[in-house]
Amino acid sequence: MAKANLIDNLNRALPAAARKALAAIVQDAQGEALAIYLVGGSVRDLLLNRPTLDVDLTLEGDAPALARRVAIGLEDVRCIVHSAFGTATLKGANFRIDVATARVETYERPGALPSVHPGSLQDDLFRRDFTVNAMALALTGDQRGAITDPFDGKSDLEAGLLRILHDASFRDDATRILRASRYESRLSFRLESKTVRRLRRDVAYLKAISGPRIREELARLWREPQPERILLRLNELGALQAILPMLSFDGSQAEAFGKLREIHTTPSRTAYLALLAWDLPQPEATALAARLALNKRETEAVRAVTEVRTLERDLSAEVRPSRAVELLSPFPSAAVWALAAAGQESARVQASRYLHRWRYLQPSLDGHALLALGAPPGPQLGQLLRRLKAAKLDGEVRSRRDEERLARELLRAGTRTRT
Ligand code: ATP
Repeated sequence: MAKANLIDNLNRALPAAARKALAAIVQDAQGEALAIYLVGGSVRDLLLNRPTLDVDLTLEGDAPALARRVAIGLEDVRCIVHSAFGTATLKGANFRIDVATARVETYERPGALPSVHPGSLQDDLFRRDFTVNAMALALTGDQRGAITDPFDGKSDLEAGLLRILHDASFRDDATRILRASRYESRLSFRLESKTVRRLRRDVAYLKAISGPRIREELARLWREPQPERILLRLNELGALQAILPMLSFDGSQAEAFGKLREIHTTPSRTAYLALLAWDLPQPEATALAARLALNKRETEAVRAVTEVRTLERDLSAEVRPSRAVELLSPFPSAAVWALAAAGQESARVQASRYLHRWRYLQPSLDGHALLALGAPPGPQLGQLLRRLKAAKLDGEVRSRRDEERLARELLRAGTRTRT
């Protein structure tokens, strides 16, 4: 693609409000004689002709100050500044533009967060993960439209290769191992041969990465269309075991991930996490939650999986819907999604019906309607409602009139209700 067209293509891909904000940023930078560049994944995607709505800008100067100045002149745009990192985000209704001060990063020890200092564009490109992500497109001055590509990322882009920038890259930051597998899958790229050797050599450095950082990278993974492909690769590279020794991922788990998407077009990351923990005994599931610094909800889902798995036997094809609801409703829905994806046939079918229909089903009569029929206030009312719900689930009542008939019968019989 001709360089001159890249900025046009970028603008075409952006919604009008983002285009306006970008133009204001460029104008401000030019006025202040500052050089500003599009960097990282946005340049890569532009060159691949798959523009994303992500706009990452780097500035050899004070990025938060520029963002604040620009935001004043833009309507409906919020400016969020992270002074400690020298970064700012301009956020509109349908876009975000990140502006960062060009920086040098140094790693004092493997796994630690880097120390950050303002630097040049070259420094900023050198801190990046792969050559294809280490290119910059100038948006200002005489250089406008030119690409800075110190590591020949363009050749790697053409060859579909992911190559680290230096020998210690994975040791400095082993989350790049997770990023590598994600890009391999998303872009259909391969790891360059020396890079894969370095990755295998340094995979154990993942042990030193904190839970929140692993969780953050995994959160990106769940957003990919087929996270199971990435997990299979990470397993093969020894990365999962480096994160947690008992963690593994095989073809049958990958199949379950695919099944999850057959029954839910966009599974939640909690459901994916529950599925990742599907085969783990309770103590290991707890260890996984701790290692990945999962939040309370995620931890509960991952821990519930062991118990949900034991329901497989009870959820036979013959089980009454009301019984299935009784068995499944105490558990977090993410754990039940895991059962609906990874369980045995009849349990999968029952769990899926529960998730899609049964759990939402309510009797037509509510508490007020029952009181009007002469039900006494108090706990009996709740019992009656549960009994009506069960009857509706099991097809014993089909209409409001059926429910009224049943309610009267139960009241006459002294409310001998099932609970
Ligand atoms: P994309 O590359 O498509 O933007 P992403 O949304 O995961 O994927 P970010 O995490 O926002 O990207 O990162 C943007 C850019 O920042 C990357 O393209 C890369 O140049 C750089 N980057 C991000 N994380 C790292 C890292 N751990 N090490 C080195 N560079 C990184």
